[in-house]
Amino acid sequence: MSDCIFCKIVKGEIPANIVYENEMVVAFNDISPQAPVHLLIIPKKHISSAVDLNQQDIKEVIPEIFLAITKLAKEFKLEDSGFRIVNNCGREGGQTVDHIHFHLLGGRQLQWPPG
Ligand code: 5GP
Ligand code: ZN
Repeated sequence: MSDCIFCKIVKGEIPANIVYENEMVVAFNDISPQAPVHLLIIPKKHISSAVDLNQQDIKEVIPEIFLAITKLAKEFKLEDSGFRIVNNCGREGGQTVDHIHFHLLGGRQLQWPPG
């Protein structure tokens, strides 16, 4: 999608601090971190939100996202202390960028429930 900021990050058209990338996914630092570690893991393919995932995405894209998350959680030394994975979906879910993304938050005690 030409006007999607996360597609622009995938294409290198706007800068991001990329911490992991493979054929299917990219992970980068959130521009407004809410925890000492706050990464966004996204598919390279533009998928607007969790409700737009098709069967093939669920079989092929989501496993790659979670493989990246587990790899990054270990790399950022969060596997023992713990961390949170968040997907905001739709306006009331708090989604502000309409390219599906998973937040990986850690490095401090996180509160529950979210606001
Ligand atoms: P959402 O609210 O949709 O779940 O999360 C969107 C996230 O993207 C927010 O945490 C926000 O700080 C982050 N974000 C928005 N624009 C940019 C950007 O241009 N670069 C980066 N790295 N993060 C962004
Ligand atoms: Zn996009």
